[in-house]
Amino acid sequence: MLTRTNIKNGDELSILGFGCLRLPSDETKAINLIRSAIEQGINYFDTAYVYQAGKNEVLLGKALTDGYRERVKVATKLPPYMVNSLNRAVKIFEAQLDSLRTEYIDYYLLHMLTDKAMFDKMVSLGVMEWLEEEKKKGTIKNLGFSFHGSKIDFEMIVKSYNWDFCQIQYNYMDEYNQAERSGLELAYSLNIPVIIMEPLRGGKLVTNLPEEVISAFSDFDEKRSPAEWALRWVWNHKEVAVVLSGMNTESQLAENIGTAQSAHAGSLSFEELRVYDEVKKIMAEKTKISCTACGYCMPCPHGVNIPGCFSAYNDKYLLSGKRLRWKYIQTLGGFSSKPAFASQCVECGKCEVHCPQKIEIRKELKNVSQEMEGILFRPIIKIARKMLGIK
Ligand code: SF4
Ligand code: SF4
Repeated sequence: MLTRTNIKNGDELSILGFGCLRLPSDETKAINLIRSAIEQGINYFDTAYVYQAGKNEVLLGKALTDGYRERVKVATKLPPYMVNSLNRAVKIFEAQLDSLRTEYIDYYLLHMLTDKAMFDKMVSLGVMEWLEEEKKKGTIKNLGFSFHGSKIDFEMIVKSYNWDFCQIQYNYMDEYNQAERSGLELAYSLNIPVIIMEPLRGGKLVTNLPEEVISAFSDFDEKRSPAEWALRWVWNHKEVAVVLSGMNTESQLAENIGTAQSAHAGSLSFEELRVYDEVKKIMAEKTKISCTACGYCMPCPHGVNIPGCFSAYNDKYLLSGKRLRWKYIQTLGGFSSKPAFASQCVECGKCEVHCPQKIEIRKELKNVSQEMEGILFRPIIKIARKMLGIK
């Protein structure tokens, strides 16, 4: 397992970190997987207070008994969106130490900042001051944040505080999305180590890829899986410290560890980089709406799941899988008490002003409705819901 040195504190971190969100639901399997990862050299484990409603931290804590805790760095997160007082933050932190069966957290993050206002709220509540006290006491070793907003907000947040590290979404399709490449480089230039999440874009860079992408990869001399291609691209950046992967089987673990043995920064050749360019071009051409799922446009007063509609619509063009209309119905609550279809849009326009990507949401939702729903959609859904007894 290759390691990279934390540019701020000198920690030797395995380049492959374990994202615990997708751990197997079976406790024994989850614990065995975590311990197997440690035995094979992974020493960075990422969880959060909200993962599996707190159970994820409990599971990780249990897996790290019997001498494993001392061998790894534990990262977990405080959810600012659930914190309205300093007391609440303190209570959450105490519960986390308890769940994780530890006396200190190595890497503690403000979870999912999307704009500077969220950080400012933590300052005004006294949370940042208290976190600094915890650092002095040694209960927190490094203080950082994870981020899902726009590049401009990332720049403001990263420059607002003397962060020990940060965590961003980054993969070959998000080179110019969210914090993007410039954010990664900015953090590095400020001596802030960067942890990467979503290197496989939630699996979208691995499963149901367009045929053209699969053949672009397979035309290359050395045979690699889409996951290996995606991970190698991220590790090629010298600014990246750790790449988190949400592994839930031994085979995924073995494959990623295999890739991590030789994924040095700057190791991709000119020919390999050309393959990525080709793949990115194909994927971009097939992406109809440049929605980043930031959620700024939400909630819609009429219940439309705007990013969900756009994601399902993009998948229709991007993925070679079948039953995409069925997936649209399923994922947009066709059989729940709160459907969220594009056709529910009444064109009030409230959402559009908030979209950082300047998407013409009303116009695009009409396209989604026409292509994913059609004339008979609503009556059919109505009948199906009635038959299933859904109100
Ligand atoms: S324009 Fe449509 S999607 Fe946007 S807020 Fe209004 S009803 Fe919702
Ligand atoms: S439509 Fe715009 S604001 Fe809404 S989630 Fe997509 S990118 Fe964000």
